[in-house]
Amino acid sequence: TPRVFSGIKPSGGLTLGNYLGAIKRFVGMQGGEFETVYCVVDMHAITVWQDPTELATATREVAAGYMAAGLDPTKSILFNQSQVSAHAELGWIFNCVARVGWMNRMTQFKDKAGSNAEKVSLGLYAYPSLMAADILLYHATHVPVGEDQKQHVELTRDIAAKFNHDFKVDFFPETEPVIEGPATRVMNLRDGTKKMSKSGESDMERINMLDDADKIAKKFKKAKTDPESLPETLDGLKDRPEARNLVDIYSALNDSTPEAVIAEYAGAGWGQFKPTLADLAVAKLAPISEEMQRLMNDPTEIDRILANGAEKARGIANPILKDTYDIVGFLRG
Ligand code: ATP
Ligand code: MG
Repeated sequence: TPRVFSGIKPSGGLTLGNYLGAIKRFVGMQGGEFETVYCVVDMHAITVWQDPTELATATREVAAGYMAAGLDPTKSILFNQSQVSAHAELGWIFNCVARVGWMNRMTQFKDKAGSNAEKVSLGLYAYPSLMAADILLYHATHVPVGEDQKQHVELTRDIAAKFNHDFKVDFFPETEPVIEGPATRVMNLRDGTKKMSKSGESDMERINMLDDADKIAKKFKKAKTDPESLPETLDGLKDRPEARNLVDIYSALNDSTPEAVIAEYAGAGWGQFKPTLADLAVAKLAPISEEMQRLMNDPTEIDRILANGAEKARGIANPILKDTYDIVGFLRG
């Protein structure tokens, strides 16, 4: 069966962007034609400093978010990356396949490093090559991600192709980013030109999955917008990134389309639309955050589920790593 792989970093609390751009779509791919493997990518999280206690909590929070949103450990493989050492091992091999010039073209590295590229960790620079290992270790062909990860999934194809070419094998498959729906790039609520991120500076720029109703209402109320009301057609949202973002969020939460939202709210002002959007977000997120809280009250159970998932993940990953070692020429007894 074709396989799906994706992951989220435990680098902070989950956001609405993570939910709409990733988790909700992970759930949509579960139980269909694919075998689904979803990881909490803790090794990626430490590419920037993480307090160890917070890292452990955030790892459980991502796992709880997965399950509360509908991922079922009997239907999907759910685990944290560091428990399957093959990720690091294949990651090293890919560090030797990928070229420095390829990494230099990664826009996320430029964004995250900013003007400080000399001072960031070497891991942050090499991150896309570990991500390629995450995916290819399962011979996954489909990778549901947000728009911001498209370039990394494309790099994964380049790494697979170069490996196959250098070693004259047809071993690693071509991967495809799956980027669908109206919320593939949820924007920052205070700046419509930046994406919403877990690790963004201000809490007001994002909705967290664990925010309560008051907080969600307040954040949407304070969200940056323009003075104009909602237009009659989608065209009227051109060059209005903040307005477009709120319409996109509404449509994604409601499983509808931006066109349908505009049709319903044409002419509405923000004083009307923002509270409606907040109510919708609360209605959709509250049941999930309640279940997350419940799951997080029992960390031992979450750890057990992740360990169990890791065992299943190793069952797929280790034979693929072994074949890779044979291809490379590493001796083993
Ligand atoms: P960080 O700021 O630490 O990078 P993040 O919020 O970007 O955190 P990641 O763990 O990097 O989260 O990404 C996990 C998944 O969520 C990826 O598939 C990514 O594309 C998706 N994602 C992240 N932010 C958004 C967003 N604003 N809109 C849509 N998808 C998103
Ligand atoms: Mg990110």
